[in-house]
Amino acid sequence: MTEEKFDAIVVGAGMAGNAAAYTMASRGLKVLQLERGEYPGSKNVQGAILYANMLETIIPDFREDAPLERHLVEQRFWLMDDTSHTGMHYRSDDFNEPTPNRYTIIRAQFDKWFSRKVRAAGAIVLCETTVTELARDARGKVIGVHTDRAGGIRADVVVLAEGVNGLLGTRAGFRKVPKPEAVALAVKEMHFLPEEVIAERFGLTGDQGCVIEAAGTISRGMAGLGFLYTNKESISLGIGCLVSHFAASLESPYALLDAFKDHPSIRPLIAGSEIKEYAAHLIPEGGFKAIPQLFGDGWVVVGDAAQLNNAVHREGSNLAMTSGRIAGEAIATIKSRKRPMTRDNLSLYKSMLDKSFVVGDLRKYKDMPALLHTNSRNFFITYPRLLSQAAQNFVRVDGTPKIEKERATKAAFIKARSRWGLISDAVRLALAWR
Ligand SMILES: Cc1cc2nc3c(=O)[nH]c(=O)nc-3n(C[C@H](O)[C@H](O)[C@H](O)COP(=O)(O)OP(=O)(O)OC[C@H]3O[C@@H](n4cnc5c(N)ncnc54)[C@H](O)[C@@H]3O)c2cc1C
Repeated sequence: MTEEKFDAIVVGAGMAGNAAAYTMASRGLKVLQLERGEYPGSKNVQGAILYANMLETIIPDFREDAPLERHLVEQRFWLMDDTSHTGMHYRSDDFNEPTPNRYTIIRAQFDKWFSRKVRAAGAIVLCETTVTELARDARGKVIGVHTDRAGGIRADVVVLAEGVNGLLGTRAGFRKVPKPEAVALAVKEMHFLPEEVIAERFGLTGDQGCVIEAAGTISRGMAGLGFLYTNKESISLGIGCLVSHFAASLESPYALLDAFKDHPSIRPLIAGSEIKEYAAHLIPEGGFKAIPQLFGDGWVVVGDAAQLNNAVHREGSNLAMTSGRIAGEAIATIKSRKRPMTRDNLSLYKSMLDKSFVVGDLRKYKDMPALLHTNSRNFFITYPRLLSQAAQNFVRVDGTPKIEKERATKAAFIKARSRWGLISDAVRLALAWR
C-alpha cells in the first residue's frame, strides 16, 4: 500500500464514475479515478442518446464545449414484421425549448471531454490502470484498492463505477453475477455517410437529429430492441436481446444485426454507408428487482454496476450520471460532517437515490422485465405480425367492404391469441406498466 491516502477512489471513467469524481472533486475532496482503458471512453459502447437535463445538473454550461452530435427533434417507435413496420413518430422542436432536451453523442469523444472536466475540477485520473481487488481491513471494511500498475492505494471510500460486469463488486461478495435474464447483449455498428445525405434521408436541417427504436420480428421472438441514431456524419445502428434468450435460441447476435440492416425499412436509410466500427456490450435489464446492495463499509456502487438502467425507456447514461452525482454528494456531505465512511453513514446515498427519479422509475416498471422475458414470442412476434396485417388491411383499397376487413382483422387476433389470451395480455401489460 502506498502512503498517500485519498478521500475517495472512483473505479471507472464512464458516465457514472465521471459524475461521481467530478461532484466530489469540485466539492474539494481529494479524488483518484482509475480507468482500465487507454483513455476514458475507449472501452465504452453506447448508442448513444445523452439526456441533457441530468448532465446540466452536474455541469450547467456543458453545451459550451461538449462534443455533441445532433439535438433530437424526432423519435420514431416502430413495430416491425419481416417486411414492414407500423410506427409512431413524435416530431417537434418545442421540447427543445429553451435548450435541447437530448442529443446524440459518440462516447469515445464524450467520455474524454467529461474526463477533462473531472481533471479540471481537481481529481487525479489514471488510465490503463485496472483495479484488481478491493483492499479490506480485518473487519472487512473497504480501505482502498489493489491495481495492476500502481500497487495498493488507500482511500476512505471506494466508488464502484465499473459498469455492468461489476467484477470487483461480485468478487468482493457485494452482489451476485447478474442472471442471464437480467442482462441484454447488444451489438452495434457505426455507418458513415456525408452529413447532407443523413439530413436528406431523415428530413433534418442543421444539427437536428432523429432516432428510431424498433421492436418486433427483428429479434426473432427474443425480448429485444433495434435502434438507429443519427450523428453528424454517421449512423449508430444496433440490436440487443436478453442473454437468456440468446442462450436458449442459439441465435447469433451479428446474424440478427445483419438481418436488421437488411430489413426493407432500414436498408435505404444506410445504403452506401461505410462501416468503420463494430462493438458488443452488455446492458442491465433486470430493473428494480435486480438492484443489488448499494453501499457498505467504505464503498458505494453506482451506474450500470448497480444495474440502474431503465430498459423500457432505454435510459442508462442518465441514471448512471445521476447515481454518480448523488453518491458524490452523499460522500461530500459525510466528509463535511467529519463522519467516517461507515455503512451507516453511507446509507445516506441510498436514501437520496430512493427519492430520485432513478429508483422511482425503476420501481414503476418493476414487473416489466419478467413479463417480457416470459411472453417474448407474443410481444415480439405475434403482435407485431398481427398489427402489421391489421395496418395493411386498413390502408389497402381493393373493393373488399370495410366491415369484412374489420371482421378479418378481429378474427386474426382471436385465432392467434384467443379472446382470453388477448384480455390477459392486455391486463398483464397494463399492470406491469402502471
Ligand atoms: C449498445 C448500447 C446502447 C446504449 N444506448 C444508450 C442510450 O442511447 N442512452 C442511454 O442513456 N444509455 C444507453 N446505453 C446504456 C449506457 O451506455 C450505460 O447505462 C452507461 O454507459 C453506464 O455508465 P457506467 O459509468 O455505469 O458504466 P460504463 O459506461 O460501462 O463505464 C464503466 C467504466 O469502468 C471501467 N472499468 C471496469 N472495470 C474496471 C476496473 N476493474 N478497473 C478500472 N476501470 C474499470 C470500464 O473500462 C469503463 O470505462 C446503451 C448501452 C449499450 C451497450
